[in-house]
Amino acid sequence: MPPLMLYDTWSRTLRPFVSIDAGRVGMYCCGPTVYDHAHIGNLRTYVFEDILRRALVRNGYEVRHVVNITDVGHLVSDADEGEDKMEKGSRRTGESAWTIANRYTDAFMSDWRALNLLAPSVWCRATDHIAEQIAFIVELEHAGYVYRTDDGLYFDTSKQDSYGHIARLDRAGLQAGKRVGLGAKKNITDFALWKFSALDVKRQMEWDSPWGRGFPGWHIECSAMSAKYLGTWFDIHCGGEDHVAVHHSNEIAQTEAAYGTRLANFWMHGHFLTLSAGKMSKSGGDFIRLQTLNDRHIDPIAYRYLCLAAHYRSNLHFTWASLDAAQTALNRLRHAYAGWPEGGAVDARFVERFDARVNEDLDVPSALAVLWELVKSDSPAATRRATVDSFDAVLGLGLRDWTLPATEIPDDIQGLLDERMRVRLERDWAKADELRARLRLLGWRVEDGRDGQRVVRISADNPDHIAS
Ligand code: AMP
Ligand code: ZN
Repeated sequence: MPPLMLYDTWSRTLRPFVSIDAGRVGMYCCGPTVYDHAHIGNLRTYVFEDILRRALVRNGYEVRHVVNITDVGHLVSDADEGEDKMEKGSRRTGESAWTIANRYTDAFMSDWRALNLLAPSVWCRATDHIAEQIAFIVELEHAGYVYRTDDGLYFDTSKQDSYGHIARLDRAGLQAGKRVGLGAKKNITDFALWKFSALDVKRQMEWDSPWGRGFPGWHIECSAMSAKYLGTWFDIHCGGEDHVAVHHSNEIAQTEAAYGTRLANFWMHGHFLTLSAGKMSKSGGDFIRLQTLNDRHIDPIAYRYLCLAAHYRSNLHFTWASLDAAQTALNRLRHAYAGWPEGGAVDARFVERFDARVNEDLDVPSALAVLWELVKSDSPAATRRATVDSFDAVLGLGLRDWTLPATEIPDDIQGLLDERMRVRLERDWAKADELRARLRLLGWRVEDGRDGQRVVRISADNPDHIAS
């Protein structure tokens, strides 16, 4: 296998990936803010991270994958202004912020499973780690990076020359352009570490701290929880491209100030899913969920396939037509695969070509092209099955677990089945047998049971046992 090359946002280069500890990878992925459902744009980022994890496993690494749940502290504006998104969601629905957090965490995990994403080694909630966040802020205070204003504790970015390097931020330009709207902050790029609860409004989520009652800023949770579960210097940190300029710049600033590391050796970012109206966003209100696809009878795995067909570092423009095309391609692949017998050996040359594409910064679109070349080749069917099985360990389409759902019966077959049902009601057994034989010739086996007839497609998994 050629070396695994990954694009690192920090260095803006493709670098050969080598883990810090031999054979093991620590990977932290910024998770959802659970004040609403995830939209399919968010989910694209998690599909990319899942492919990365599977590719690392393919390269022989054991991966410790940590995903956080942001259930407090993410304010409506990234500039630390406005309401906490959770409290805002609570006002929208009339339920408590805690109820909302639980509901949307469960919904998120259900989307996660529907997309066949591997379960993380650790899920961690911000509200379960308040003590760790407070302890981290204390470290930052000792290191001299913290100042206090009327509404909270802030990180002083002017104390750090490297601040914003990952985003190649023009700090002087930003500072000059934004004199207005700075509030009590000293520098435009400074950010909240702890916010005080307002005196006149009772917050639902608030905690005591050495500085007063309040809640943590959004960024501190990731520095604190990644340190707890992966250490202060680990292999890969991921998120969507929108995180580079603010959230990840701030995470790095905190960890560098407290521990002198830039947090992760590799920084990887998935590009956005866009709609004609621009990027898809939760706060925009108009967003497509996985449930929206279900309502249209589109399999979540078809959405996964659509994501695989675009490189993670290019924008993916969403259209219903492209999703339909993904569903068609997936159906074709599933049917082909289900028809191949087991027991073959993998085709090493195809596997080598597939892995080479994956190892080139997760070039999954090209790897899929290799897969289709194999599907259409004249290799023995059992070889094709074994080889596609091996590819699917990286692609995660779950081909092995798929069985033909009843709804996928083609119209002409359904017509024959309906006719057979009718003649059976008329007790015309000869005609019913004749229709059964016709269906069998077309590749469908009918079994009569107590609650009517059942039909299965004859395949390697469902061979035709009926003697003719
Ligand atoms: P959030 O729940 O808003 O904190 O976002 C969860 C994840 O989705 C983060 O990694 C974001 O960077 C990512 N994300 C947000 N919008 C999009 C989008 N339109 N396309 C892809 N990823 C996105
Ligand atoms: Zn984060």
